[in-house]
Amino acid sequence: MNKQTTEHPSNDNTDSASPTFADIYQSSIHDREQFWAKQAERIYWHKQPEQILDDSNLPFAKWFVGGETNLCYNCVDRHLPERAEQDAFIWLSSEINQELTETFTGITDAFKELDNNVEFYTDYTKRRLTYNALYKEVNYFADVLQRRGVGKGDRVIIYMPMILEAAYAMLACARIGAIHSVVFGGFAAHNLAIRMDDAEAKMVITVDAGLRGGKVINYKNLVNQGVEQATNKPETVLVVNRGILPFKAQTIDVDYATERRQSCDANAVVEPVWLESNEPSYLLYTSGTTGTPKGVQRDVGGHAVALTTSMDYVYNGKAGETFWAISDIGWAVGHSYTIYAPLLAGMTSVMYEGLPHRPNPGIWWRIVEANKVNILFTAPTGVRMLKKQDETWMTRYDVSSLKTFFLAGEPLDESTANWLTKYLGVPILDHYWQTETGWPILSNTPKFDHKAHKQGSPGYPMYGYEAHVLNEETGEPCAAGEKGLLAIKAPLPPGCLTTVWRNDERFMSSYFKLFDNKQYSTSDYAVMDEEGYFYILGRTDDVINVAGHRLGTQEIEEAISTHPEMAECAVVGIKDELKGELPIAFCVLRDHAQVADTENRFRLEQQIIGAVVKSLGGIARPAAVYFPQALPKTRSGKILRRAIRALAENQPTGDMSTLDNPTAIDAVKQSMKDY
Ligand code: AMP
Repeated sequence: MNKQTTEHPSNDNTDSASPTFADIYQSSIHDREQFWAKQAERIYWHKQPEQILDDSNLPFAKWFVGGETNLCYNCVDRHLPERAEQDAFIWLSSEINQELTETFTGITDAFKELDNNVEFYTDYTKRRLTYNALYKEVNYFADVLQRRGVGKGDRVIIYMPMILEAAYAMLACARIGAIHSVVFGGFAAHNLAIRMDDAEAKMVITVDAGLRGGKVINYKNLVNQGVEQATNKPETVLVVNRGILPFKAQTIDVDYATERRQSCDANAVVEPVWLESNEPSYLLYTSGTTGTPKGVQRDVGGHAVALTTSMDYVYNGKAGETFWAISDIGWAVGHSYTIYAPLLAGMTSVMYEGLPHRPNPGIWWRIVEANKVNILFTAPTGVRMLKKQDETWMTRYDVSSLKTFFLAGEPLDESTANWLTKYLGVPILDHYWQTETGWPILSNTPKFDHKAHKQGSPGYPMYGYEAHVLNEETGEPCAAGEKGLLAIKAPLPPGCLTTVWRNDERFMSSYFKLFDNKQYSTSDYAVMDEEGYFYILGRTDDVINVAGHRLGTQEIEEAISTHPEMAECAVVGIKDELKGELPIAFCVLRDHAQVADTENRFRLEQQIIGAVVKSLGGIARPAAVYFPQALPKTRSGKILRRAIRALAENQPTGDMSTLDNPTAIDAVKQSMKDY
C-alpha cells in the first residue's frame, strides 16, 4: 500500500458516531463512486446521473454521466423556499464613497437605474441583495442575453470589475447554458483579444470604467482595443454604464440599463436550461509555460457537487453564514468562492471592490464587523500589505464573528501567519490549490480536526485527491522528507478541469505527459513529512507568482520581443517581500552600445516596461530591466533562466562549465552592476 495515499494526520475527533477526516479521505479513494454519489445528493438534479464516474478514457474523466442540472438553479432558485429574504450578496465598494458620488453625479444616476437599495457611507458604498432579488436580476440578465442572441454553448467574455452585475452576468450565462470566460480587469487589450479569439466569443460584457485606488480604469476603451485586435470579433458588447466615465458608443455596443428596463417591465423569467453534467460551464484562461494561455474548462455537475462539498468539508461553512473571499472574479478564487460555492451552500457572499488599505488599513475589519463575516479567504499579499501599516487598525473593530481565516495562492510566510494570529485569535489556515482544480488539493479541515495545523504547511490531501510526491525522473513515490513533484493520480476528482478548451492534446501534454497519462502534474515541487503534511517548494516551470497571480514569463518575454531593438530576452521572477515574486527582465539589444548613454538607456527601459504593460497589464510590469551583452545558454541553445534567477538573487548558480557561452554569466552580473 502506498503510504502517501493512505496516511493522514489523525485527529482527535473522538466522537465515534461522526467520521474523522481520515475516514472521509479513505472512502473518497477506496469507495470513490459511493463517496461522490453521496456528495451529489447535496445539489438538485433535474435528471439523476446514470453513472457516477466514467474513467474509461483516462486522463479524461467524466463525472455524474447522464445527470442533468443547472448551476444557476442550484445557486439561486433552489434557495428561494427557505431563504428568499436572506442576503445572497453584500457588495461593498471602498472606491465609491459619498464624496465621490457628489462629484460624479452620473454614479448615483446609474445606481438609481440599476438598484435602489444602495447605502452611501463616508468610507464605502453598500448594496445588499437578497436571494429573491438575485433571482429577479439573474432572470432579467438572462433575458437580455437571450434577446441579444446568446444561447446554449455560446461563449461570453466578462471583463468587469467587482460589481454585482458581474455576478448576474456569470449566473445568467450558467442559467442559459452559455459558457462564460471572465477576464481579470488588470489585463490589457492584447489579453482580451487572445481570449476573444481562442474562445470565439459571441459577446463581451463590460463596464464604462472601474476604479482602483481612486484611479479610473477605462474598461470600455480596453474592450474597444481588444475588439479591434481580435480576429474573431464579438457580435455584441453589452455595457453596464456605471456613470464613471463618458464614452462614445460603438456600433456593436448595447446599453445594459436600457435592456434591463425592458426585461424588468416584462417581469421576465427565464427557465434554466438543463445541462448534461459534463457539458462546459465556463472557461478560465491561465498562464502556462508557453506564451498562449490555456482555457481551463470546467463542467457543470462535477463543479456544483465539488464546490458544495468543499464548503462543508474544507471550509466548514454553513447555510446562513457569511463568507468573504477577498479576490477578484477574474481569478479562480473569485469564481469558486465569491460567486459559486457560497451561493451553492446557501450562504451570504461578500463582494468587495477596493484595496486592503483604502480609505484606511482598517477597512477589512470594519467590513467584517459590520457584516458579521464568519469565514475569510484571501492571498497572503493583501495581509502583508496591512502588516506594513499602522497596526492599531488591527484592534479597532470587533471581529469576533470570524471563525477561520484561509489563505492560498502563494506561500504563507511564518511571520505573516503569526501576525494575523496575534490580532485575530482564530485559526489562520494556509491551503493550496490551482486554477485547474478549482478547489483545494491540500488543506486543513477545521470541521474535523481539532489539532493545530503546522506552520509552513498548507495541510494534507483533500478527499478525492490521491496526491503524492513523486520522483521527477522515475515517477516513484518519494520517501517522507524527500523533495519531488506534487502529482495527483488520475482521475482528478469532480470540479477540476475536464480539458483545455478545444485542445485535448494540450490538456494531456501540459498535465499528464510526464507520468504516462497516469498522474496529473501540478508543476510544483513539494515534500511530505512523516505525519502526512505537505510543504510546497515552488514551481518546476517558468511560471511565476506575483501577489498570488500566476504569470508565464514567456508571455512577458513575447511582449518585450516586440520592441524593434530587442535581440533576445529572458524574464525571471525574483523574491519580493510584499508580492512574493516580481518579474525582472534581462534584455539583449541588437546594438548593446545603445545603453552606454544613460538617457537612451532610460528611454529603452521605459519603452520595454510600457510594451509589457500595454500587452499584459500592470500586473506583469517588470520591476527592473537589465541590459546584458549575452544570456547564458546550454549547448542546445536553451536560455538558462534558473542560472539567471540565481544571479539576480545573489545565489550560487551551480556548475556552469557546460554552458555554451560561459562569459554570459559575467555579462549578466555586470548588467546588474551597471544599473
Ligand atoms: P493559480 O492557478 O493562479 O491559483 O496558481 C496556482 C499556483 O500558486 C500553484 O501551482 C502554486 O505554485 C501556487 N500556490 C497556490 N497556493 C499555494 C500555497 N498555499 N502555498 C504555496 N504556493 C501556492
